[in-house]
Amino acid sequence: MRDTFAGAKRLAYGARALTEGGYQSVPKLAFPGGALIGCDAGFMNVPRIKGSHNAMLSGMFAAEAAAAALAGGREHDELADYEASWRSSAIGKDLWKVRNAKPLWSKLGTFVGIALGGLDMWCNTLGFSLLGTLKHGKPDSATLKPASECTPIAYPKPDGTLTFDRLSSVYLSNTNHEEDQPVHLRVADMNLQKTSEYDIFAGPSSRYCPAGVYEWVEEAGTPKFVINAQNCVHCKTCDIKDPNQNITWVPPEGGGGPNYPNM
Ligand code: SF4
Repeated sequence: MRDTFAGAKRLAYGARALTEGGYQSVPKLAFPGGALIGCDAGFMNVPRIKGSHNAMLSGMFAAEAAAAALAGGREHDELADYEASWRSSAIGKDLWKVRNAKPLWSKLGTFVGIALGGLDMWCNTLGFSLLGTLKHGKPDSATLKPASECTPIAYPKPDGTLTFDRLSSVYLSNTNHEEDQPVHLRVADMNLQKTSEYDIFAGPSSRYCPAGVYEWVEEAGTPKFVINAQNCVHCKTCDIKDPNQNITWVPPEGGGGPNYPNM
Protein backbone atom coordinates (compact mmCIF):
# COMPACT_ATOMS: atom_id res chain seq x y z
CA MET A 1 0.00 0.00 0.00
CA ARG A 2 3.02 2.26 0.46
CA ASP A 3 3.34 2.10 -3.32
CA THR A 4 -0.27 3.21 -3.65
CA PHE A 5 0.33 6.31 -1.57
CA ALA A 6 3.57 7.12 -3.34
CA GLY A 7 2.01 6.61 -6.74
CA ALA A 8 -0.97 8.77 -5.84
CA LYS A 9 1.26 11.55 -4.65
CA ARG A 10 3.68 11.43 -7.53
CA LEU A 11 1.00 11.36 -10.20
CA ALA A 12 -0.50 14.60 -9.05
CA TYR A 13 0.91 16.74 -11.78
CA GLY A 14 1.19 17.18 -15.50
CA ALA A 15 -0.83 15.81 -18.40
CA ARG A 16 -1.28 19.14 -20.09
CA ALA A 17 -1.43 17.52 -23.50
CA LEU A 18 -4.42 15.49 -22.36
CA THR A 19 -6.54 18.59 -22.77
CA GLU A 20 -6.29 17.84 -26.47
CA GLY A 21 -8.81 15.12 -25.91
CA GLY A 22 -10.84 16.97 -23.27
CA TYR A 23 -13.20 15.20 -20.90
CA GLN A 24 -13.59 12.13 -23.05
CA SER A 25 -9.86 11.44 -22.95
CA VAL A 26 -9.44 11.58 -19.18
CA PRO A 27 -7.16 8.61 -18.62
CA LYS A 28 -7.91 5.72 -16.32
CA LEU A 29 -7.77 7.38 -12.94
CA ALA A 30 -6.78 4.50 -10.72
CA PHE A 31 -4.63 1.44 -11.28
CA PRO A 32 -2.62 -0.97 -9.16
CA GLY A 33 0.06 1.04 -7.42
CA GLY A 34 -1.27 4.51 -8.09
CA ALA A 35 -3.98 7.02 -8.82
CA LEU A 36 -3.97 10.03 -11.13
CA ILE A 37 -4.92 12.94 -8.93
CA GLY A 38 -4.74 16.69 -8.84
CA CYS A 39 -4.14 16.89 -12.55
CA ASP A 40 -5.07 20.32 -13.88
CA ALA A 41 -5.44 19.00 -17.37
CA GLY A 42 -6.83 15.52 -17.01
CA PHE A 43 -9.61 17.27 -15.05
CA MET A 44 -9.49 20.49 -17.12
CA ASN A 45 -12.77 22.21 -17.54
CA VAL A 46 -12.28 23.89 -20.93
CA PRO A 47 -14.95 26.61 -20.67
CA ARG A 48 -13.93 27.73 -17.17
CA ILE A 49 -10.66 28.03 -15.27
CA LYS A 50 -11.29 25.54 -12.52
CA GLY A 51 -8.33 23.20 -12.82
CA SER A 52 -6.98 24.02 -9.37
CA HIS A 53 -10.33 23.45 -7.64
CA ASN A 54 -10.75 20.13 -9.35
CA ALA A 55 -7.12 19.17 -8.68
CA MET A 56 -7.58 19.68 -4.95
CA LEU A 57 -10.94 17.91 -4.80
CA SER A 58 -9.69 14.95 -6.80
CA GLY A 59 -6.68 14.73 -4.47
CA MET A 60 -9.03 14.53 -1.50
CA PHE A 61 -11.03 11.72 -3.13
CA ALA A 62 -7.82 9.82 -3.88
CA ALA A 63 -6.62 10.24 -0.29
CA GLU A 64 -9.96 9.00 1.06
CA ALA A 65 -9.86 5.96 -1.24
CA ALA A 66 -6.25 5.20 -0.24
CA ALA A 67 -7.05 5.61 3.47
CA ALA A 68 -10.06 3.28 3.17
CA ALA A 69 -7.92 0.70 1.35
CA LEU A 70 -5.25 0.92 4.05
CA ALA A 71 -7.84 0.57 6.80
CA GLY A 72 -9.15 -2.52 5.03
CA GLY A 73 -5.67 -4.07 4.90
CA ARG A 74 -5.53 -4.02 1.10
CA GLU A 75 -2.24 -3.94 -0.86
CA HIS A 76 -1.20 -3.50 -4.50
CA ASP A 77 -4.71 -3.44 -5.88
CA GLU A 78 -6.75 -0.85 -7.73
CA LEU A 79 -8.39 2.10 -5.98
CA ALA A 80 -11.59 1.58 -7.94
CA ASP A 81 -13.65 3.50 -5.38
CA TYR A 82 -11.70 6.61 -6.24
CA GLU A 83 -12.91 6.73 -9.81
CA ALA A 84 -16.51 6.07 -8.79
CA SER A 85 -16.43 8.79 -6.11
CA TRP A 86 -14.87 11.28 -8.52
CA ARG A 87 -17.43 10.65 -11.22
CA SER A 88 -20.38 11.07 -8.85
CA SER A 89 -18.87 14.15 -7.18
CA ALA A 90 -19.16 17.85 -7.96
CA ILE A 91 -16.18 17.47 -10.33
CA GLY A 92 -17.83 14.74 -12.38
CA LYS A 93 -21.15 16.59 -12.50
CA ASP A 94 -19.40 19.80 -13.48
CA LEU A 95 -17.44 18.20 -16.31
CA TRP A 96 -20.47 16.28 -17.55
CA LYS A 97 -22.14 19.58 -18.43
CA VAL A 98 -19.26 20.58 -20.69
CA ARG A 99 -18.53 17.18 -22.21
CA ASN A 100 -19.31 18.46 -25.71
CA ALA A 101 -17.20 21.61 -25.55
CA LYS A 102 -13.98 20.14 -26.89
CA PRO A 103 -15.51 17.88 -29.57
CA LEU A 104 -17.49 20.89 -30.88
CA TRP A 105 -14.39 23.06 -30.78
CA SER A 106 -12.42 20.44 -32.74
CA LYS A 107 -15.17 19.88 -35.31
CA LEU A 108 -16.48 23.43 -35.84
CA GLY A 109 -13.54 25.68 -35.03
CA THR A 110 -12.95 28.24 -32.32
CA PHE A 111 -15.84 30.65 -32.81
CA VAL A 112 -18.75 28.43 -33.84
CA GLY A 113 -17.54 25.47 -31.77
CA ILE A 114 -17.11 27.45 -28.55
CA ALA A 115 -20.36 29.34 -29.02
CA LEU A 116 -22.30 26.10 -29.53
CA GLY A 117 -20.40 24.47 -26.67
CA GLY A 118 -21.42 27.34 -24.40
CA LEU A 119 -25.07 26.98 -25.41
CA ASP A 120 -24.93 23.24 -24.81
CA MET A 121 -23.35 23.84 -21.40
CA TRP A 122 -26.21 26.09 -20.33
CA CYS A 123 -28.79 23.62 -21.61
CA ASN A 124 -27.12 20.90 -19.53
CA THR A 125 -27.06 23.22 -16.54
CA LEU A 126 -30.82 23.61 -16.93
CA GLY A 127 -31.23 19.85 -17.05
CA PHE A 128 -31.43 18.93 -20.71
CA SER A 129 -29.06 18.41 -23.64
CA LEU A 130 -29.52 19.44 -27.26
CA LEU A 131 -26.71 17.26 -28.53
CA GLY A 132 -26.45 14.22 -26.28
CA THR A 133 -22.82 13.19 -25.94
CA LEU A 134 -20.58 13.91 -28.91
CA LYS A 135 -17.47 11.87 -29.62
CA HIS A 136 -14.14 12.87 -31.02
CA GLY A 137 -14.32 9.96 -33.45
CA LYS A 138 -10.73 8.82 -33.09
CA PRO A 139 -8.07 8.69 -30.40
CA ASP A 140 -5.32 11.28 -30.14
CA SER A 141 -2.77 8.80 -31.44
CA ALA A 142 -4.67 8.61 -34.74
CA THR A 143 -4.69 12.37 -35.28
CA LEU A 144 -1.03 12.79 -36.18
CA LYS A 145 -0.29 13.31 -39.85
CA PRO A 146 2.89 12.14 -41.56
CA ALA A 147 5.56 14.84 -41.54
CA SER A 148 5.43 14.97 -45.34
CA GLU A 149 1.91 16.46 -45.09
CA CYS A 150 2.89 19.17 -42.63
CA THR A 151 4.78 22.44 -42.64
CA PRO A 152 7.14 22.96 -39.69
CA ILE A 153 6.02 25.73 -37.32
CA ALA A 154 8.68 28.30 -36.48
CA TYR A 155 8.14 28.91 -32.78
CA PRO A 156 9.79 31.96 -31.20
CA LYS A 157 12.62 31.17 -28.84
CA PRO A 158 11.90 31.42 -25.08
CA ASP A 159 12.62 34.94 -23.87
CA GLY A 160 13.56 33.90 -20.33
CA THR A 161 11.03 36.37 -18.90
CA LEU A 162 7.59 35.14 -19.81
CA THR A 163 8.53 32.00 -21.70
CA PHE A 164 11.16 29.46 -20.71
CA ASP A 165 12.92 26.52 -22.24
CA ARG A 166 11.76 23.05 -21.35
CA LEU A 167 14.70 21.96 -19.27
CA SER A 168 14.44 25.06 -17.04
CA SER A 169 10.83 24.14 -16.38
CA VAL A 170 11.72 20.50 -15.74
CA TYR A 171 14.27 21.74 -13.20
CA LEU A 172 11.49 23.60 -11.36
CA SER A 173 9.45 20.40 -11.16
CA ASN A 174 12.18 18.84 -8.96
CA THR A 175 11.51 15.58 -10.73
CA ASN A 176 13.71 12.78 -9.55
CA HIS A 177 13.97 9.03 -9.98
CA GLU A 178 16.36 6.50 -8.55
CA GLU A 179 18.90 5.69 -11.25
CA ASP A 180 18.47 1.94 -10.90
CA GLN A 181 14.67 1.86 -10.74
CA PRO A 182 12.77 -0.37 -13.20
CA VAL A 183 12.02 1.20 -16.58
CA HIS A 184 8.66 2.95 -16.46
CA LEU A 185 8.61 4.08 -20.12
CA ARG A 186 8.38 0.93 -22.21
CA VAL A 187 8.95 0.91 -25.96
CA ALA A 188 7.51 -2.29 -27.40
CA ASP A 189 9.37 -2.22 -30.72
CA MET A 190 12.47 -0.06 -31.15
CA ASN A 191 12.60 -0.81 -34.85
CA LEU A 192 9.07 0.52 -35.33
CA GLN A 193 10.12 3.64 -33.48
CA LYS A 194 12.73 4.27 -36.16
CA THR A 195 10.77 3.17 -39.24
CA SER A 196 7.57 4.97 -38.31
CA GLU A 197 7.89 7.44 -35.43
CA TYR A 198 11.08 8.87 -36.87
CA ASP A 199 11.00 8.15 -40.60
CA ILE A 200 7.31 8.94 -41.18
CA PHE A 201 6.30 11.26 -38.34
CA ALA A 202 9.69 13.01 -37.82
CA GLY A 203 9.99 12.06 -34.16
CA PRO A 204 7.05 13.87 -32.49
CA SER A 205 8.01 12.47 -29.08
CA SER A 206 10.94 14.89 -29.00
CA ARG A 207 8.40 17.75 -29.28
CA TYR A 208 5.27 16.69 -27.41
CA CYS A 209 7.05 15.47 -24.29
CA PRO A 210 7.02 18.46 -21.91
CA ALA A 211 10.12 17.23 -20.12
CA GLY A 212 12.44 16.54 -23.04
CA VAL A 213 12.58 12.86 -22.15
CA TYR A 214 12.76 11.65 -25.74
CA GLU A 215 15.51 12.61 -28.15
CA TRP A 216 16.61 11.47 -31.55
CA VAL A 217 20.39 11.82 -31.68
CA GLU A 218 22.85 11.03 -34.42
CA GLU A 219 25.20 8.20 -33.55
CA ALA A 220 27.67 7.09 -36.19
CA GLY A 221 25.46 8.68 -38.82
CA THR A 222 22.35 6.81 -37.64
CA PRO A 223 19.41 8.28 -35.69
CA LYS A 224 19.23 6.76 -32.24
CA PHE A 225 16.21 6.96 -29.91
CA VAL A 226 17.30 8.14 -26.44
CA ILE A 227 15.01 8.05 -23.39
CA ASN A 228 16.00 10.32 -20.50
CA ALA A 229 13.51 8.65 -18.15
CA GLN A 230 14.84 10.44 -15.07
CA ASN A 231 13.27 13.70 -16.36
CA CYS A 232 9.76 12.26 -16.74
CA VAL A 233 7.03 14.30 -15.04
CA HIS A 234 4.46 11.51 -15.52
CA CYS A 235 2.04 13.37 -17.73
CA LYS A 236 1.33 10.20 -19.78
CA THR A 237 1.26 12.10 -23.05
CA CYS A 238 3.59 9.62 -24.75
CA ASP A 239 1.30 6.75 -23.84
CA ILE A 240 -1.64 8.55 -25.45
CA LYS A 241 -0.06 10.43 -28.33
CA ASP A 242 2.48 8.03 -29.82
CA PRO A 243 1.17 7.39 -33.37
CA ASN A 244 1.87 3.67 -33.17
CA GLN A 245 0.87 3.19 -29.53
CA ASN A 246 4.37 1.80 -29.18
CA ILE A 247 5.17 3.55 -25.89
CA THR A 248 3.58 2.46 -22.64
CA TRP A 249 3.86 4.46 -19.45
CA VAL A 250 3.63 2.34 -16.31
CA PRO A 251 3.50 3.56 -12.69
CA PRO A 252 7.06 4.32 -11.62
CA GLU A 253 8.70 2.94 -8.54
CA GLY A 254 7.28 4.57 -5.40
CA GLY A 255 8.87 7.91 -4.62
CA GLY A 256 9.99 8.80 -8.15
CA GLY A 257 8.64 11.76 -10.09
CA PRO A 258 7.98 15.49 -9.83
CA ASN A 259 7.80 17.28 -6.52
CA TYR A 260 6.37 20.79 -6.46
CA PRO A 261 7.07 21.94 -2.88
CA ASN A 262 5.17 25.21 -3.16
CA MET A 263 1.86 23.82 -4.44
S1 SF4 B 1 8.06 10.68 -20.98
FE1 SF4 B 1 5.87 10.61 -21.40
S2 SF4 B 1 4.91 10.65 -19.39
FE2 SF4 B 1 7.02 11.34 -19.11
S3 SF4 B 1 6.95 13.57 -19.27
FE3 SF4 B 1 7.39 12.79 -21.32
S4 SF4 B 1 5.43 12.58 -22.36
FE4 SF4 B 1 5.04 12.80 -20.13
